[in-house]
Amino acid sequence: MHTIFSANDLHDTIRSVFTAQRQHAAQMALTTAAQRIERIRRIGKWVDKHEEAIQQAMYEDFRKPAAEVSLAELMALRSEINYTIQHLGNWMKSHRLPTPTVLIGTKSYIRYEPKGVVLIIAPWNYPFVLAIRPLVSAIAAGNVAIIKPSELTPNTAKLISRMIEELFPVEEVDVFEGDAEVSTALLEMPFNHIFFTGSPAVGRVVMTAAAKQLASVTLELGGKSPAIVDETANIKQSAERLAWGKCVNNGQTCIAPDYVLVHQSVKDNFLQAFRAAVSAMYRGDNKPVVDSDSYARIVNSRHFERLRNLVDEAVAKGAVVSMGGTMDASQNFIEPTILERVTSDMLIMHEEIFGPILPVLTYTDLDEALAVVNERDKPLALYIHSRNRQTIDYIINRTSAGDTVINETLIHFSNSELPFGGVNNSGFGKSNGFFSFQEFSNHRGIMQRDFGTMKFIYPPYTDTVRKL
Ligand code: NAD
Repeated sequence: MHTIFSANDLHDTIRSVFTAQRQHAAQMALTTAAQRIERIRRIGKWVDKHEEAIQQAMYEDFRKPAAEVSLAELMALRSEINYTIQHLGNWMKSHRLPTPTVLIGTKSYIRYEPKGVVLIIAPWNYPFVLAIRPLVSAIAAGNVAIIKPSELTPNTAKLISRMIEELFPVEEVDVFEGDAEVSTALLEMPFNHIFFTGSPAVGRVVMTAAAKQLASVTLELGGKSPAIVDETANIKQSAERLAWGKCVNNGQTCIAPDYVLVHQSVKDNFLQAFRAAVSAMYRGDNKPVVDSDSYARIVNSRHFERLRNLVDEAVAKGAVVSMGGTMDASQNFIEPTILERVTSDMLIMHEEIFGPILPVLTYTDLDEALAVVNERDKPLALYIHSRNRQTIDYIINRTSAGDTVINETLIHFSNSELPFGGVNNSGFGKSNGFFSFQEFSNHRGIMQRDFGTMKFIYPPYTDTVRKL
């Protein structure tokens, strides 16, 4: 943990850690798969040993229920660790490539080499997994790394510092806690790669800073992820899955369904099933949701006020709260809330909601629904709930999204085989498994000649070459 007293201290400390890491990077690059796996196992063991402390830190940060920490953070981390351990030996091997006839006598292959010193900037909403999962991939690819956790979840940030301090020397992995000032100071260093998870607005700042150093970037951003529910969907199941996806972590999930476009003919059924799903999850014995210990809180009063304003503004313009709506500023509590009669001039249809508020819009012609999706930035996730294969393909062919999930929500993040990430405004570069390993690697092309010479390419050129 760094003790920093002034801006000068901050810059000096960052520079000295960065220099130490840059010197150590060459040694890390030479590590074998077994040596990297040993480091990754260290992380896994620490997590197993300190699961309660991790849960406690996030409870203190925003009352994240312990079970949600285990399910949504640690399960996803453990599966990525196991997957990486299982496949790393293979990923690190040189990959042979085909040779065109004209280059006969040569062989070509890709060797994944570490990028070097990498910076991982993490958000607050899944503050542990979104800092440590990229670290697993960075180590797998043979890099040294600095992590900058979010200042909005200070207890988790402290725990991450402690964990890294116990597991790694500073020249291999280090943590700088703090806010945008610390991030900005870090971004002045010539990192070889920056892996940023956060908002599109800060993503732009990060990419601008990276451009100055020509550092490569992975941007895992956010935005409005729509869900389309058509008239053939299994309404009960869809409502349950979307209700869970909207309410888990109190709606503060980058891939939470942001708004729903439901076919007019099934809207009433959908709303009824959504209400029932919320009650089943959070209203045992008919108690109010605020008493549920399975329901997290909005991370701070700034975000609470932002969400309250979104609802107030929508209602002032004619939207109707048709479920929930209860808010308690003293504990940053917002009940799962449905807004109907939402129109595109309302702020809630422009910014990422990031809270348990669901605008439900209706359509009768699928193209109208697709127009609503397509007039916005390309989403991180698009959810399609339908039992009609043609409709599903129609939607996929006429939209673009980082990932698309059919008849489910959120769980695609946990499949290490699937590329996870956005497109344009929702980010670029993909994470999970081999995709993360690739993000943290330079795909070095190597060609070797074993026999033959292409004398014909040397001057003086002959007619044969001129006609090639
Ligand atoms: P944020 O962009 O405000 O902050 C992310 C990180 O950037 C934090 O560590 C913060 O300290 C740092 N930061 C803030 N201002 C900065 C600046 N000016 N310069 C440099 N660094 C700065 O995001 P957040 O509020 O922590 O997280 C919510 C956002 O993250 C949402 O948009 C959500 O969709 C997105 N998100 C995306 C993913 C994904 O995998 N694609 C996952 C989780 C969250």
